[in-house]
Amino acid sequence: MRKILLTLSGMAMIFVCSCNRAEKEEPAWIVDRFDDIKVIRYEVPAFEELSLNEKILVYYLSEAAKCGRDIIFDQNFKYNLSIRRALETIYEKYDGDRAGKNFLAMEKYLKKVWFANGIHHHYSNDKFKPEFDQYWFEKQLAKHVTDLPIEQSLLVSVMFDSSLYASRLNQTDGVDVVKESAGNFYEEGITQKEVEKFYNDLTDVNDPRPISYGLNSKLVRGANGRLEERVWKVGGMYSEALEQIVAWLEKAEQVAEEPLKQIISDLVKYYRSGNLRDFDTYSIHWAQDVNSKIDFVNGFIEDYGDPLGRKATWESVVNFRDEKACERTRIISENAQWFEDNAPINPAYRKKVVKGVSAKVITAAMLGGECYPATPIGINLPNADWIRKDYGSKSVTIDNITYAYDKAAQGNGFSEEFVLDEADRKLADKYGKLSDDLHTDLHECLGHGSGQMAPGVKGGELGTYTSTLEETRADLFGLYYIGDEKLVELGLIPSLDVAKTQYLHYILNGLLTQQARIELGKNVEESHMRNRMMIAKWCLEKGQKDKVIELVEKNSKHYVVINDYKKLRQLFGEMLYEVQRIKSEGDYEAGRQLVENYGVKLDLDLHKEIRTRYASLNIEPYGGFINPEYTLVEKNGKIVDVKVTYPTSYVEQMIGYSKNYSFLPSLN
Ligand code: ZN
Repeated sequence: MRKILLTLSGMAMIFVCSCNRAEKEEPAWIVDRFDDIKVIRYEVPAFEELSLNEKILVYYLSEAAKCGRDIIFDQNFKYNLSIRRALETIYEKYDGDRAGKNFLAMEKYLKKVWFANGIHHHYSNDKFKPEFDQYWFEKQLAKHVTDLPIEQSLLVSVMFDSSLYASRLNQTDGVDVVKESAGNFYEEGITQKEVEKFYNDLTDVNDPRPISYGLNSKLVRGANGRLEERVWKVGGMYSEALEQIVAWLEKAEQVAEEPLKQIISDLVKYYRSGNLRDFDTYSIHWAQDVNSKIDFVNGFIEDYGDPLGRKATWESVVNFRDEKACERTRIISENAQWFEDNAPINPAYRKKVVKGVSAKVITAAMLGGECYPATPIGINLPNADWIRKDYGSKSVTIDNITYAYDKAAQGNGFSEEFVLDEADRKLADKYGKLSDDLHTDLHECLGHGSGQMAPGVKGGELGTYTSTLEETRADLFGLYYIGDEKLVELGLIPSLDVAKTQYLHYILNGLLTQQARIELGKNVEESHMRNRMMIAKWCLEKGQKDKVIELVEKNSKHYVVINDYKKLRQLFGEMLYEVQRIKSEGDYEAGRQLVENYGVKLDLDLHKEIRTRYASLNIEPYGGFINPEYTLVEKNGKIVDVKVTYPTSYVEQMIGYSKNYSFLPSLN
């Protein structure tokens, strides 16, 4: 997986804390909410600690990140820019009742268009339905918008006729996915067959370093009827925006140090040539640079938006290393052997020599293109398999984004609804994020890499249960060790209260709350969800005699209560012993029974109850962000500082970007 996304941000793996409002009044984290969306702000806490040069570099790279916004609008759909501009003009010039039904509905529609970078939902890909009157809108268009680039009737039917351009990305089996998708990667009329033939003819199957053909171009029909590429480069398609991006990158290059200087220069070369071999060179240098404090992504990177997975959307993330969080994973990795030697598994299945992986944690400073406003919480690049194999890849998690998600979730009522004990809610407020981060670190840096096979066992014996059992193993490793005094000794946690929070959260999620994401009548399919339910149910059953975990009912609502944290930790250890045995011995039957008995079937009544309780909280399922702003401080013509501020208006930021960072014509 290339990108890690928080799917149901209101209640993802992050523990959603109660609103135990701190003494100090904080500015609100959620700055806007509409439809199924909440918009959050994020902070860049360590920006002040960067050197002046680093701050300036972040500033230049951030300007480059903002200059590509129009590109993603146009890539998503060819009429997006025309529609966005028409809506913005009416929004500003409207002289009627701004509290009226039609205007408010149009405002909501425009907010959704800004959020999705177009008129199709960013997640479901379905076209938005305007909730304002078509006749009213036609009047406003005629009155205020004098420079429509397309016929008014065409623009209106594109917006209001639900059969036109219904989906941005249609991957239904059996349809012509190119013809049925509204994304702007192929000229209308071109068929899936034609595209496939075009690129099959180009591909050299024997090339050990295959070129990512099609990555940076739109496929169109030329004058003679033959297909040809319009390349996204300076002097080609999207040139007006790319020239601005290149200008800021060249400024950045002047203040950057090696190897970042070379990397920026590689990228500029590629933006000018459009040659995909230049992109490979840039990607290789980028992947190899693991030491620069400042890092960035800027370009045509991910191909999820193309039904054929070939064309890349434009995106940017400017970031720098989070020293404190990296220190945490470094300590864990350095002690990897101790954890392995003390793991509660059969000594024969412990690795004699184990190496931890130290994960890189970053702070995002600016989000752009496809990463704005809806943002991944992690990045894993580059995408070309041969580069990953020969030169490595970078995998990072973005800490200030998950922090902001966590903050935004506080006070959404989730904790009051599902956690019985006030003291537990307070503990979660205090340690929720730390305990999640640490559990993830232990899972990723140590869990997956621990253990070894019995002689003669090759792996693969567990068949379709492999990934559920593997995630179970890594999760149990993390759960067992987060409750170990060793973590206090290493300075990773202040006390074992951190473990208590994680234990309650984990069992609650596994037994109850994650069901809210599953349709009624269905069973658990996804492997992470299976593994969580399996661990929770297994421990509930094995600890029944001593009432380690109790599922209590109060006013017809179910709650999880943990009576004995020490014994629960013991149970995690016992289960890990068994799951490690299953993996090491390749015991398919035991693995199958574990998953089928504990990780699949839901109780219909309980499932109904959880879904009803969750729905009553009205938590928006999707979240996104507004960016901070950076301002240069100059003295006698020299830059002496860069100031960061945190705007609180989604509308102002969007209108501002459309005014100051919009370079493309409406039709490209
Ligand atoms: Zn995992």
